Amino acid sequence: MPNGDFPMGMTEPYIPEILPVLPLRDTVIYPHIIMPLLITKEEYVKLIDDALTADRLVAAMAAKEEVETPGPEQIYHVGTAAAIIRMLKLPDGSMQLFVQGVQRIRIVDFVQTHPYMKARVEKVREVLEKSVEVEGLARNILAQFKKIVSMAPYLPNEIFIAAMNISEPNNLADFIASNINITLEEKQELLEAVNVKERLEKLTFYLNKEIEILEIGSKIQSQVQTEMSKSQREYFLREQLKAIQKELGEVDERTMEINEFREKIEKSGMPEEARKEAERELDRLAKMPVAAAEYTVARTYLEWLTSLPWNVSTEDNLDIKRARKILDEDHYDLDKVKDRIIEYLAVRKLKEDMKGPILCFVGPPGVGKTSLGQSIARALGRKFVRISLGGMHDEAEIRGHRRTYIGALPGRIIQGIRKAGSNNPVFMLDEVDKIGVDFRGDPAAALLEVLDPEQNYSFSDHYLDVPFDLSRVMFITTANTVIPIPPALLDRMEVLELPGYTEVEKLHIAKEHLIPRQLEEHGLKKSQLTITDDALRAIIRKYTREAGVRNLEREIAAICRKVAKDIATGERKSKKVTEKDLHEFLGPERFRFEVLEEEDEVGVATGLAWTESGGDVLFVECQVMPGSGELVLTGKLGDVMQESAKAALTYCRSVADRYGVDPEFFKKHDLHIHVPAGAIPKDGPSAGVTMATALISAVTGRKVRKDVGMTGEITLRGKVLPIGGLKEKVLAAHRSGVKTVVIPEENQRYLEEIPDFIRKDLKFVPVTDIEEVFKVALYPDGRARAKQEKEPPAGKTAAGGGDEKAAAKKASGTKASVSTSGNSGNRKTGLKRANSRRRS
Ligand code: ADP
Repeated sequence: MPNGDFPMGMTEPYIPEILPVLPLRDTVIYPHIIMPLLITKEEYVKLIDDALTADRLVAAMAAKEEVETPGPEQIYHVGTAAAIIRMLKLPDGSMQLFVQGVQRIRIVDFVQTHPYMKARVEKVREVLEKSVEVEGLARNILAQFKKIVSMAPYLPNEIFIAAMNISEPNNLADFIASNINITLEEKQELLEAVNVKERLEKLTFYLNKEIEILEIGSKIQSQVQTEMSKSQREYFLREQLKAIQKELGEVDERTMEINEFREKIEKSGMPEEARKEAERELDRLAKMPVAAAEYTVARTYLEWLTSLPWNVSTEDNLDIKRARKILDEDHYDLDKVKDRIIEYLAVRKLKEDMKGPILCFVGPPGVGKTSLGQSIARALGRKFVRISLGGMHDEAEIRGHRRTYIGALPGRIIQGIRKAGSNNPVFMLDEVDKIGVDFRGDPAAALLEVLDPEQNYSFSDHYLDVPFDLSRVMFITTANTVIPIPPALLDRMEVLELPGYTEVEKLHIAKEHLIPRQLEEHGLKKSQLTITDDALRAIIRKYTREAGVRNLEREIAAICRKVAKDIATGERKSKKVTEKDLHEFLGPERFRFEVLEEEDEVGVATGLAWTESGGDVLFVECQVMPGSGELVLTGKLGDVMQESAKAALTYCRSVADRYGVDPEFFKKHDLHIHVPAGAIPKDGPSAGVTMATALISAVTGRKVRKDVGMTGEITLRGKVLPIGGLKEKVLAAHRSGVKTVVIPEENQRYLEEIPDFIRKDLKFVPVTDIEEVFKVALYPDGRARAKQEKEPPAGKTAAGGGDEKAAAKKASGTKASVSTSGNSGNRKTGLKRANSRRRS
């Protein structure tokens, strides 16, 4: 710190001729400048002691080199006479000094070098000039210094104020020189510059250099700062804030929660847009009172956002051989479907971003649609999720409700993704065929967006309000039938059919898959439970009636449970289940296998129907009663089926006389067609031939052979048109013991899809005209019935007397004998009822 200019009235200080020489390490002292020094070396302590007893002055000369005790050659010979203004002795013998520069001096010669140097000195006189130039230079260095003070962190602001108060340019230069960062050589140069103008010029140069350095420094600093990403800085600040709050005991639960969310947002890896939204919501949360209802809403939202697997994905295992092995391990047969899946995976392997078609597994329940999906996930090493679309009417179920709704949640898709915990699971959408449309919007349309590879990379859920990328999800849909699937949706999908299993296939599936699986699930060893093939076949025939194997698996599980119980209680060690044991394990038989066991009747024809749970056999009943020619249709028949019935009636009327029926008959009688089970909606044209057969039987009194199953659409002129679902229908016929199957001729070429052994068991009669059906299915003319009944066409036993009575009544033209059976029930009881009719 300067002490200003010379004291008033004193222009030049007194300097003795000889002074002790104190070498300075790495610095110079300018006149008027006070500087602290630490003296540790013994000889210099002595020097100071001596000086203090003399006139307190020393020659402070900068050392040129860093040596312990520099000699005359190792110090600069121009320096400063300095006064010791304060001395403190420290306990270790060293000294703390404050010295103040007094006058520039030059060493003339050395008079002593031991124990310290003493030299003869002379004053160095400064060349002072008062000119505009000097004044300008002085002002300039002051301005430069101001700038430096503002930029350099090591200079306090007060130092500039001190500088401002120095009026003499030479002293100002010295003051500034002693306070800036310049080298020893530069400092010495300024000390030796006796001409003020020259000193100011040099200083200007050094100041410029310093400013430049500082500017570059701050530029680098600010660059580093911007490069250190905003989030990092925020992170540091937040950590600090947390620490401070903790220190102050101010961390309440809310703050902790907010901090937690912040961390979760950080870690979730969500895209920019979602992140912004999350942060906005978090800011809102921070400002809300905890008790506010909205607080919970915001919190739930943040929980959803932060728990989604934004960037969590599993790595695909695209080893095709392994995939095939897994599919084969899990499923019997289904080769066509497996091949297609393998192709799909192969393409996926070659093309990373494959936007392949969505696979749609179509088939009745229990044929392995879901478990195929699980196998695919297992083969690929992906997670598996499944949602059911059945009965979905509301678009919001897919897409979520907007957050403004009370209790709003994301849609099922996003929920599924969260459950999967990865953004590329195998995602199964069950029952696409059961999706509905109503006033709350069209879920199918929302589903389209989910499945469309062009759109689903930014699927927007109403609740999330920010897009989520679904493009890496492998969607698989399932349906029982393709018919109700909206065409736009069906268009996006590749349908793979799983039509259902034959008895033999079921036997294989049971032996190779279901039994081992159930044994394991019940903790049983192979040696502890065996089920004979006969027993399995009996379970398939008498305890289940299905296209798939779901109930079969259930029955096997029931057996396993009971055997496990017996083994656990020590009642048995092992068990071989034969057909005889089934009653004990599974109760009474549930289904009668044989349609044959039913008696043939008038007015009842065996139709083959295609239902969502595979094929089925249904009996179309027709009753005639006195009336005015009306046609009554019951049994929940759809429009198409009703029209089909009307067409059948028109045709029958047109040919009635050929069958010996008076055309007037139809004017005086009402006809009633009923198709049990009454509670199950039925539709489609393929029962046309069956209804026509039942009708003609009812009006002619000729019995129908129950073991003739038939299917086909009928035209007004009696032509038989092709139908769908042939395989399922044939399988159902085979299951039920039908012997002859009447099919439209055009369907004949599809017979090759049906397994050989089934084809061998059945007789197929392709027809083009309904009269061919009548020939096969109807007994000969009723009038000849008595004779026929003794010798029925298919070698069947004769019908009972009840029928004869009915036939007699019919012959008298009053009433046809028709089996009218009960009323409706629900879907299940309806079936049971239909089946129970077949019981003996
Ligand atoms: P879906 O989804 O078609 O209704 P599931 O996938 O639920 O049918 O199948 C029902 C059960 O039958 C599952 O345990 C499944 O593993 C088994 N299953 C079905 N088909 C086969 C098959 N071909 N091989 C082995 N098990 C099968």
